[in-house]
Amino acid sequence: MIETKNLWREILESIKISVSPAIFSTWFSQTYLAGLEKSGKRFIAHVGCSSPFVKTTIEGRYFGLLHDAMVKSLETPCDLVFIVKQNPDKRPSEAFAETPLFENKTNEFSQVLMRSRVRPGYTFDNFAVSSSNQMAHAAAEAVADNPGNAYNPLFIWGGVGVGKTHLMLSVGHSILTQNSSCKVLFVSGEEFTNDIVEGIRNKTTTAFRDKYRRLKGLLIDDIQFIAGKDAVQEEFFHTFNALTAAGGQVIMTSDKPPSEISKLEERLRSRFEAGLIVDIAPPDFELRCAIAQIKAKEKGIELPMDLVQLISANIDSARRIEGFLIKLISQARLKKSEISEELVNSLIGKGEDSQNQKLKARPNDVILAVSKHFSLGKKLLLGDSRARPIARPRQILMYLLRLELGLPLTEVGRLVGGRDHTTVMHAVDKITHLATEDVDIREDLLGIKNSL
Ligand code: ADP
Ligand code: MG
Repeated sequence: MIETKNLWREILESIKISVSPAIFSTWFSQTYLAGLEKSGKRFIAHVGCSSPFVKTTIEGRYFGLLHDAMVKSLETPCDLVFIVKQNPDKRPSEAFAETPLFENKTNEFSQVLMRSRVRPGYTFDNFAVSSSNQMAHAAAEAVADNPGNAYNPLFIWGGVGVGKTHLMLSVGHSILTQNSSCKVLFVSGEEFTNDIVEGIRNKTTTAFRDKYRRLKGLLIDDIQFIAGKDAVQEEFFHTFNALTAAGGQVIMTSDKPPSEISKLEERLRSRFEAGLIVDIAPPDFELRCAIAQIKAKEKGIELPMDLVQLISANIDSARRIEGFLIKLISQARLKKSEISEELVNSLIGKGEDSQNQKLKARPNDVILAVSKHFSLGKKLLLGDSRARPIARPRQILMYLLRLELGLPLTEVGRLVGGRDHTTVMHAVDKITHLATEDVDIREDLLGIKNSL
């Protein structure tokens, strides 16, 4: 008889090496081996997952990894069956206890971080990875492991709150962890500008140059800030050249790619484009769940998976998820109540989401506007046809109801022919994604909004 607990521990240990700690604690620590039977020459392993969401994610994304680990450990072919079942041996509070996200930082290391102005608490370990940020994450890790040699400069761009600053700080943190005497500096575009302006005003540009040009790593957050400022761009150009010529690494973040930053000097633009440019797209549902879990854990609260999903389904930005959790915790404290579905629901309706409403229209007006824009009857629009010319307008309708009117997913689903919230979520993700690459979709959205 094989001891299932020990076997599973062994499997998880081997998986821990292959995935990031965030992925491990979000998904794998939520599993256990519920049963193992022998059928002929094969084993059948029943993998217990703490929620349907954990089950679909592991089944869909990590099946191969898990399967390989099982076969290797058992040295026998093995089939995997996934079931949703709580681990009877584990109280929920222990579910996460296995992998501390943060190593104990010594005081000394905090000094190192402070000197480099690298904010603590933002590392690769607590950065969750999904398709929207995978490229940027991989590039950042490569740079952290080989500063000055991998991609230079590394230019990371994307919308508000997608994790650009977090990722850049992770690089700084990682470089300093590997070599605490490495000269790294993290500054915002604004601080950098102030430094230059001050240098020019007080005739201390030499001090400025000494400070910046000797760096092994210069991390500038929101570089778009220097655009349109001639003296600053001039100085930065020389700083950039001197620093990179001496083998130093430059990393920048921006809200736009270099080609779209207006009033950016041509010679800087071409320098920025000479390295690697990667973007981070808005997080999809799965990533928002992972982020919500990481943030909840960091704040010391135990958030059950159904609440994680409820929050992530209703809040689109990583930054607002964190804000929401803070509000949730303080409300729970104030009301001396548990963090419950009721409390989450009551706060969702009142969040920034609803204040962010851009359209002052009723749901029915939106339905009519979409129907008119695409010359589709309401019945067809809200009906069951999956044909693209009908399904796409329907997705656009769901997108507008959700994002422009701020309606809850379930309500959108109800309005659009009684669909389920996951269908709505999928539609919103799809259109969000398409809107970034397809001008036709952008024009449709704009046209409909204008007609309202
Ligand atoms: P940006 O600089 O792109 O505006 P930030 O890096 O400041 O965004 O991220 C906003 C918040 O969201 C931060 O608290 C950050 O830790 C969190 N966040 C964003 N993306 C992730 C991620 N992939 N994993 C964990 N936290 C994330
Ligand atoms: Mg930022």
